[in-house]
Amino acid sequence: MLSTLKPQPADKILELMALYRDDPRETKVDLGVGIYKNAEGETPVMRAIKAAEKQLWQEETTKKYTALSGDPAFGAAMKSLVLSDSVDHTRVGAIATPGGTGAIRQAFELAKLANPDVTIWTSNPTWPNHVSIIKFMGLKNAEYAYFDEASCTVDFDAMMESLKGVKAGDVVLLHGCCHNPTGANLTLEQFDVVADLIIEKGAMALVDIAYQGFGDGLEEDAAATRLLASKLPEMLVAASCSKNFGIYRERTGCLMAISENAEQTPVTQGTLNFLNRQNYSFPPDHGARLVTMILNDEKLKADWMAELEEVRLGMLGLRTQLADELRRLTNSDRFDFIAKHRGMFSRIGATPEEVLKIREEFGIYMVGDSRMNIAGLNAQTVPLLAEAVAKTCK
Ligand code: PMP
Repeated sequence: MLSTLKPQPADKILELMALYRDDPRETKVDLGVGIYKNAEGETPVMRAIKAAEKQLWQEETTKKYTALSGDPAFGAAMKSLVLSDSVDHTRVGAIATPGGTGAIRQAFELAKLANPDVTIWTSNPTWPNHVSIIKFMGLKNAEYAYFDEASCTVDFDAMMESLKGVKAGDVVLLHGCCHNPTGANLTLEQFDVVADLIIEKGAMALVDIAYQGFGDGLEEDAAATRLLASKLPEMLVAASCSKNFGIYRERTGCLMAISENAEQTPVTQGTLNFLNRQNYSFPPDHGARLVTMILNDEKLKADWMAELEEVRLGMLGLRTQLADELRRLTNSDRFDFIAKHRGMFSRIGATPEEVLKIREEFGIYMVGDSRMNIAGLNAQTVPLLAEAVAKTCK
C-alpha cells in the first residue's frame, strides 16, 4: 500500500537550511528559518523557562493525564495574556494545542464542523502552512490582497476590495501582529474597519498571533486582537508560545474560541475538547505548564518580560541599522520600510533572481520570496547585507 505514495513537495525553508549547511563560506549568513537568534547566532533557553523547569522538576509529583483541554490554568493564563479584559472570559473557550500550528489546525477543524462549506480567507501572501493545511483538509481557500510589492507596505484599499467577496459563514484569517512573511501590518484603525466588514458579512475572524512581544511590545502587539475581541460577536484566536517563550520544540499553543454569549460557551468548550480527543487526545503539557507557571508568578513573569523586551529591542535596533545603512548606500529612502516593519521578518521586494544572486555572490540566505529573518543578523552582518542588497536590487 505504501508504494502508492508519491513524494511530497519539499519544504522550501528546510531545503534552504540544507543549502546553507553545505555552504563552506565562513562569512555565510542565514536569514531563512523563522527562529529567533541572538547576536551570537544562538537560540538560548529563556531565563524564566530554565527557572520554571528547575522548579517544576523539584515540585512535580505526577505525569498523569491533565484534561482534554489541557490544564484549564493554562487556558486562563493565555486568555489573560492575549485577550486581557477585552472580552468577558466566560464567553471564551480554550484548549492547549501542539504549538500555534496545532491551534490553527484545530481552528480550521472547528470552522469545518460549524460550516462544512466554509471558505478560509488568507492574506496574499501568508505563512505558507496556512494554505497548505487548508488545502490538505479539503477546505476552500480564497486570498485577499494584502502586500504591495512596490512599496513593501499593506495595500489596504485592495485588501478591502477583495474582502467584499466574503460570505456569511466564511472565516477571515488575520495575523494579530508581526505579519509573516511580510513584516507589514495593519494599523488599529484599519483593523477596526476590517472588523466592521466581518460583522456586516456575518463572517468569523480567526486571529493567528504567533509573535506577541516581538513587535511593539507585549500589550501593543495584542491590541488588534483585543480590539477585534471587543467588537466581534464570535472569534477564534490561535496563539503560539513558541517564539515569545522560546519553547519551539515543546509544542505549546492555545486555541481560544469566543462565543456570542456565555450560555454557548459550554458547547463551544466541549467541541474544542472533542476535537483534541479526535486528533491527539490529551495535548502536550510541559511547555504549557512552564508558561502557566511564569505567567502566574510575579518574579518569573517580570524576568520573562524583561528578556522578551531585550529580544524585541535587539531586532528593532537591527532594523534601524539596516535601513540607515541602505539609505546611505542607495542615497534614497527606498528601503525605509524595513524600519517600519515589525516582528522577525521583512519581505524586501527583491525578485527571485536577485535573492539567488545575493545567496550565490554574498552567501546571504533568504527565502525565495525575499523574506528575511531580521534576527539572523547582527551588527557585523548588517553592513554585508546592505551592500549585497544595494548592489543587487535594481
Ligand atoms: N503562525 C505563524 C504566522 C507562524 O509564523 C508560526 C511559526 N512559524 C506559527 C503560526 C506556528 O508556530 P508553532 O506551531 O511553531 O507554534
